[in-house]
Amino acid sequence: MTELHEPAAFRAALRQWLDENDLTPAEGEHSLDAHQAQHVRVLAALYDAGWMRYGWPESAGGLGGPDVLRAIVGEEVVGRGLDHPGPYSMLDVLAPTLIDYARPELAAEMVPRLLSGAETWCQGFSEPGSGSDLASLTTRAVQDGDTYVVNGQKVWTSFAQYAKRCILLARTGGPDVPNHEAISAFFVDLDSPGVTVRPLRTMHDVDEFCEVYFDDVVVPADRMLGNPGDGWRLAMDLLPYERSTCFWQRIAYLYSRFDALVEQVKRQGQVVDTDMGEAYLALHTLRCRSRATQHRLATGAKLGPDTSVDKVLLASAEQRLFDTVHDLLPGAIELDDTQWRTEYLYSRAATIYGGTAEVQRNIIARRLLDLGKE
Ligand SMILES: Cc1cc2nc3c(=O)[nH]c(=O)nc-3n(C[C@H](O)[C@H](O)[C@H](O)COP(=O)(O)OP(=O)(O)OC[C@H]3O[C@@H](n4cnc5c(N)ncnc54)[C@H](O)[C@@H]3O)c2cc1C
Repeated sequence: MTELHEPAAFRAALRQWLDENDLTPAEGEHSLDAHQAQHVRVLAALYDAGWMRYGWPESAGGLGGPDVLRAIVGEEVVGRGLDHPGPYSMLDVLAPTLIDYARPELAAEMVPRLLSGAETWCQGFSEPGSGSDLASLTTRAVQDGDTYVVNGQKVWTSFAQYAKRCILLARTGGPDVPNHEAISAFFVDLDSPGVTVRPLRTMHDVDEFCEVYFDDVVVPADRMLGNPGDGWRLAMDLLPYERSTCFWQRIAYLYSRFDALVEQVKRQGQVVDTDMGEAYLALHTLRCRSRATQHRLATGAKLGPDTSVDKVLLASAEQRLFDTVHDLLPGAIELDDTQWRTEYLYSRAATIYGGTAEVQRNIIARRLLDLGKE
């Protein structure tokens, strides 16, 4: 199977397999439950056929090969509309960090469950008072023998209602410990007694994220990811994935929506105008940047603050595309219950999730351009 580690051969074989194995979602199923069911169905089929395992280390149940193989799977699957970019992105965001920080036996046991769709996981970082200022989080984990007892609240936890487990940040150090050494990370079973998950409705009318409450939740100490105080480092390692590699498949989806817009505009007898050119240029710029990031990852580079550039470009391109839809298809967003409306509204979140646009620009100014605090 190692000839499949060559990206072009891998893509060709995957395309052939996808052509021969119909995973098209059912028509007219737009609920979040339907998306989740389709997500699980697609992952299970791709995992059984081996595709979901390429690009992941053998130590975690993968079949090895370069990281770019998993980007190719995401691009083909999401670009064909077989899965949605939101649920799919959780794989790219959560699995690499779990592999890097969990005990090897834990990663070997758990990662296959995520990649095969047997389980969904979520990311418990943000709290009501701690989003951009993540280091101020107040959820606390207190050691009690060989367990930790967790109390606190998380918010905006995407897909928590479907999740079996959560990568959770909690404060383990006291007031005398500097913030960045006082936070630890845990891999928590969400069916533990004391966990309450309450879905929150978004403005596009979907319960995509949740509040998650932890009341005296007992977590085994061997579910800590890394060592006590490693939580901040884990977050700084995870966020670059959330701000870059998981976009490759999202870009494929945005291109497919751009093509759909061109078709619709042509059908209505309108001229394809300069607004569309600008939307296309923004998408293409994003794709070039994202390609460079994927290739840096392939050479073994560690992703860091430079991924804030990818995040700014993603948010700008996505919002520009759906702003163009708004301008060219009068009423499609305000008056009609179309897919465009949902997408336009969701695109507003692109400058918030994974770190807001303002915070990304601060990181670029301070850490990449060395422009100082003001
Ligand atoms: C669709 C979606 C999905 C999400 N999924 C998850 C998830 O699965 N898990 C999770 O943990 N979180 C998740 N989040 C939360 C997300 O990470 C936070 O919303 C984000 O980090 C911003 O935090 P906040 O909402 O507390 O806003 P705040 O931090 O309160 O920011 C409010 C405003 O102040 C601005 N601001 C704050 N600080 C500065 C500063 N220093 N300089 C300039 N401007 C500043 C911000 O840019 C923003 O405009 C999700 C959010 C969304 C929208």
